[in-house]
Amino acid sequence: MSKAEVAVNTARNSFKNGTTKPYEFRLQQLKALLKLIEENSKELVEEARKDFKKPKFELVLYELEYVKNEILEAMHNLKEWMKPRKVTKPLPFILDKVFVYPEPYGVVLIIGPWNYPFMLLFSPFIGAIAAGNCAVLKPSEITPNMAYLTEKLIPKYLDPNCYHVITGGIPETTQLLEHRFDYIFYTGNTNVGKIIQRAASKYLTPVTLELGGKSPVYVDNTADVELAAGRILWGKCVNSGQSCIAPDYILCTKEVEQKLLKAAKMKIRQWYGEDIQSSPDYGRIVNHNHFQRVIKLLEGANVALGGSYNAEECFIEPTIIVDVKSSDPVMQEEIFGPVLPIVNVANAADAINFINEREKPLALYVFSNDKKIQDLFLKNTSSGNYTVNDTMMHFSCDSIPFGAKINKYLPVRPHIMEHKGKTSKKKSLGSFLLPNKVPNKVGVAVIRSQSAK
Ligand code: NAD
Repeated sequence: MSKAEVAVNTARNSFKNGTTKPYEFRLQQLKALLKLIEENSKELVEEARKDFKKPKFELVLYELEYVKNEILEAMHNLKEWMKPRKVTKPLPFILDKVFVYPEPYGVVLIIGPWNYPFMLLFSPFIGAIAAGNCAVLKPSEITPNMAYLTEKLIPKYLDPNCYHVITGGIPETTQLLEHRFDYIFYTGNTNVGKIIQRAASKYLTPVTLELGGKSPVYVDNTADVELAAGRILWGKCVNSGQSCIAPDYILCTKEVEQKLLKAAKMKIRQWYGEDIQSSPDYGRIVNHNHFQRVIKLLEGANVALGGSYNAEECFIEPTIIVDVKSSDPVMQEEIFGPVLPIVNVANAADAINFINEREKPLALYVFSNDKKIQDLFLKNTSSGNYTVNDTMMHFSCDSIPFGAKINKYLPVRPHIMEHKGKTSKKKSLGSFLLPNKVPNKVGVAVIRSQSAK
């Protein structure tokens, strides 16, 4: 039997035994996960550094602490999430008791990407544990050190029959996908997303696909340009631009562009000094293939800021390019690197047309102090998230939906109807896995005041 087969069969048997269903078990496993992070944070930082020089503060703040908070939130809400909920009743059921009962799916497959190798694997895992599922985790082969550490730590801290880690690349994932799962949670690029969806359809397995895309930024002449430059560049420099919701490109007038460039130069120097390559706070592109892909986007570009790189180190300086046309290669795909193109538009209406002519963005950012302009974008565009006067911060606002996060509102489907006094219980066909793993394409807005950060 292959490793995948052993993992899936063992997990399936454990689920059938009902091991993962009791509240006490779920709580104990969540506590064990917390302990795993607390006792191994140094090693986790070290392995992420080996993989792609991820700065220590980035791993600690955006991955370890983030996941710890999600575990604490799950532990805090677990009892509440597990409770049956009374629902409003249509007239024919007025004398009946009608409830929604949360119910785990069964065996869940979680496939993670390399860019936040800990957080994007463990965050959906918390949901799977909290909802009473067994799980098979598949970390990305592109960050092998983190993958092997995950493989070593999970069975040491968590129930080894219920939770499994399979390492490896495309052949191993392909083999895994031949098995029947009850839910698949995939984070990564769109092309592989289609492969996952096809594999899942064989068993009609429900999926959450956390994919990528280009997230535009619009800056107008009422914005505080210095603040805008800082927040846009922060979003672009964290993880060297390798974040799914990183600001991908800027839309603004030539006049705003000049002011932005001036402010951007100051910010970069202030953050990383004169020699960015030697700054411990600036990471690297994950491997040579991705490095070459990003560098190619700079061919023939008009570089207004940065532009230097080092192939051996997979280092690319934060780079702003100007005079960019919509037909340029850099505008055809998600950049996923520290390159920021500026496309000039005449006004907000022009920017809205530009955005609406393309795929719906994962995130949309508008920097403006004009309420009418903020509302214009809100009403006339559609995106996974819409944030005013900031970038990426919506990800940490846990009261709004985002696919890879636990949310307070658990949209459980199965329900049991208790006809007054009798015990006839009808189970609905649907069932739901994770505490509100809402797909990204839910429009939500965060409006931040200029003085908020
Ligand atoms: P990746 O190359 O690590 O792939 C992701 C996972 O898919 C890995 O575990 C890998 O083994 C598996 N995989 C790769 N090719 C496969 C194949 N042919 N068949 C089956 N499995 C396969 O990561 P990536 O795709 O480069 O990740 C970056 C992308 O992920 C970007 O587009 C980014 O925007 C997106 N992303 C989205 C989110 C989100 O929350 N929406 C978060 C992070 C990253």
